[in-house]
Amino acid sequence: MAGYTPMIQQYLAIKEQAKDAFLFFRLGDFYEMFFDDAIHASRELEITLTGREGGGTEKIPMCGVPYHSAENYIARLVEKGYKVAVCEQVEDPSAAKGVVRREIVRVITPGTVMETKSLSDKSNNFIVSVGSVSASAMGLAACDLSTGELYVTSLVYNLDTLIDEINVYQPAEIVGDEALLTQLRENAVWNRPVLLTAREPMAEDKLIEQFDRSQLEGLNDARYRAVSLLTGYLEETQKRSLGHVRTIRTYEPNQYMILDHYTRRNLELTETVRDRSKKGSLLWLLDRTQTSMGARLLRRWIDKPLLNRSKIEERYEAVDALYRNLIARDDIRSEMNHIYDLERLVGRVAFGSANGRDMNALRSSIRRTPQLVELARNAGSERLRLLVDGLDDCTDLAEMIETVIVDEPPVSIREGGLIRAGYDDYLDQLREASTNGKKWLAELERQEREATGIKTIKIGFNKVFGYFLEVSKGSLALLPEGRYERKQTLANAERFVTPELKEKERLILEAEDKMVDLEYARFIELRDHLALQLHRLQRLAEVVAELDVYQSLATVSAERRFTRPTITDQFNLVIEEGRHPVVEAMMEGIPFISNSTALRHDEQSMLLITGPNMAGKSTYMRQVALICIMAQIGCFVPAKAAEIPLIDRIFTRIGAADDLIGGQSTFMVEMKDIQLMTEKATENSLVIIDELGRGTSTSEGMSIAQAVIEFVHHHIGCKALVSTHFHELSHLEATLPKLANACMAVQESGDHVTFLRKLIPGAASTSYGIYCARLAGLPDSIIDRAYVLLEHLEADAENLLQVSSDKKQPVYKVAEAQTVPSYITAPEPELAIKETAAAVQLSIFDEPGV
Ligand code: ADP
Repeated sequence: MAGYTPMIQQYLAIKEQAKDAFLFFRLGDFYEMFFDDAIHASRELEITLTGREGGGTEKIPMCGVPYHSAENYIARLVEKGYKVAVCEQVEDPSAAKGVVRREIVRVITPGTVMETKSLSDKSNNFIVSVGSVSASAMGLAACDLSTGELYVTSLVYNLDTLIDEINVYQPAEIVGDEALLTQLRENAVWNRPVLLTAREPMAEDKLIEQFDRSQLEGLNDARYRAVSLLTGYLEETQKRSLGHVRTIRTYEPNQYMILDHYTRRNLELTETVRDRSKKGSLLWLLDRTQTSMGARLLRRWIDKPLLNRSKIEERYEAVDALYRNLIARDDIRSEMNHIYDLERLVGRVAFGSANGRDMNALRSSIRRTPQLVELARNAGSERLRLLVDGLDDCTDLAEMIETVIVDEPPVSIREGGLIRAGYDDYLDQLREASTNGKKWLAELERQEREATGIKTIKIGFNKVFGYFLEVSKGSLALLPEGRYERKQTLANAERFVTPELKEKERLILEAEDKMVDLEYARFIELRDHLALQLHRLQRLAEVVAELDVYQSLATVSAERRFTRPTITDQFNLVIEEGRHPVVEAMMEGIPFISNSTALRHDEQSMLLITGPNMAGKSTYMRQVALICIMAQIGCFVPAKAAEIPLIDRIFTRIGAADDLIGGQSTFMVEMKDIQLMTEKATENSLVIIDELGRGTSTSEGMSIAQAVIEFVHHHIGCKALVSTHFHELSHLEATLPKLANACMAVQESGDHVTFLRKLIPGAASTSYGIYCARLAGLPDSIIDRAYVLLEHLEADAENLLQVSSDKKQPVYKVAEAQTVPSYITAPEPELAIKETAAAVQLSIFDEPGV
């Protein structure tokens, strides 16, 4: 450090405290960065890199951003996954002896941003902590600092389970025990950039201050550790009290359906696989929420389908009432429309960043709640009645805000203009003094004009000289000697002050200064007062959010003709005329062909689905999974009727865009997913495997596929839908009693194929891949050659099967002749063709990539 100027020495000392962050070092109107920070930031932010003499032999690299636009730059860095430490001047530069004292006032990190610019209204921004207390127990805490939510759980030690649980929150940042973080770094795949920081837990006495003893006593060691690690990190980075993070919500992971990361992605629950957009996801379809809190809660419900029948039924009851009561639903929707993001407003109050406009948003939102409560009470639902029963509507807080804050306050809370007249006597007096002073100035201007005879003399104000009298050059000769003191010369005018003007100026400016200070003080008083009432507002926000989700689910259910499922704790899964909710919604105009499902304990619980590409196999399988998920989040389902058992876990292996994640081959990814399934699936799980066994040679793929199917059949006994290219596998139906063949009906006429999108019993005859190739426009010579080769290969395969299997031969024909077993309610083939052929032909040609 020797040799550097005192300021650079100060910089380096502070930088020591924030080694892993960009240090924004306040210098006057700028935040400056130095040394490597400057080089790095100039690149990331595309700002000019300069240099500064700092006492060393060479210039110090430097770059900076103006303080008033810093928020944008900080947001950009944080979005890229960096931390930014904001270092302010903490004493008045004019009073400072030597270098102004500076301190880091806050570290902004991806998981702790509070700024509206960096947050999406409709999703939470979680930071997760993980800690382990023994070789067998891990704790996990997830907090959204912007809303104050804090969820805590513990798990039996298992890295996959931990990763699945973390993925529920899609955190921007993870903190915790170094050993665990190392394992995560080596093994986890996230679908967004995640920043990992190792941390020490918080001291016990501080933790008690934050949460009080009784809440902490309820936590087991693992949960306690997770909370402590998280709170420690929040304190260290935020450097202020977090009055809105007071309630610890604990849960058991087995309260919810388990969905691993791939399954969430494959089923496109909250975003699509292709472009990661919300549009096209289940969330997109179900989201008719009117408030941001409702939108976030809905997303959490989708992320965590319930496993508790009575809780699910409670939700159905509320959705059902609103489904049937169109008027109540519409009224609730329109009331909701006026409610701002209470949770984040509360967060800003606690954080000390709420301004006058936030206060008014809070006020007007609270004002809406009594009507909302009334509507909910009378909507005809027991659940809704209970939800709002005894709800504190916080009207007193709205009244208080109303008496303090003007109707249209400015953004800034430091420039006055926000406190209502009549609230503070002294403030009113000062205002009067300032207004009178201005009247006096107008009068003085008139007098001066009269006394000097200069018609153009006028009073003005600027920050450097204060109030002045301005006289144009042409009239200067008329100005008498004596009283006028020259202050400034312009091109065509001179500016003067007089003793009277100076005297009044002092009074006016003093009053204005005092006014601004007093307004600020009054505002902070209000904010501090509200900060003590946050739990009341948080409760209100929760109720509004839940109500919003019910109306959203009811609205979509009614519009899309969903029906209330029956939830059971039995085994059977029976869906009558089910539809894929999202595909149906995306193909407006073209009818979606419904398909039934019946997977029963005593009959078939596994379907082996064959059929050509593009026939609708994967749509069908996803549809079954989505219907189960919808049912377990409390939503109605796209079916004529449905009996849904509580499903503890859904496994999917669906070949999609994620095949090459982490440089693994398609086949390896598939095998890993299958391995997970064999290890974790229970009888109550649902397994979905699309195109089992692809990605390796035909014979190998087929062998593995058969072995996997047999394993699920013999050892797991869960409900499963498996699709495969290998129609040869359909012989398994004969030996596996719980397995049935099914295929997507296809109508052939001449050399044309029409997909009917109907699931029918039996195995498909051939896979029509070459037909698809023709549709795609491949040259005839290739197509013809492919048909010839196919014939040879199929003959070979048949020979192979005859050699290796003493079991029954596969059935290659679409089984029109079979009687329809009860597991599939197939349509009359004739009828299906008439209904669907035209529409379906259209959709084949519409499909991109074909
Ligand atoms: P496969 O898995 O057999 O290759 P997909 O399930 O991907 O086929 O279906 C291909 C396309 O067919 C889908 O993108 C969709 O547009 C359409 N489709 C699938 N099922 C239906 C259905 N039941 N009704 C109408 N269109 C459907």
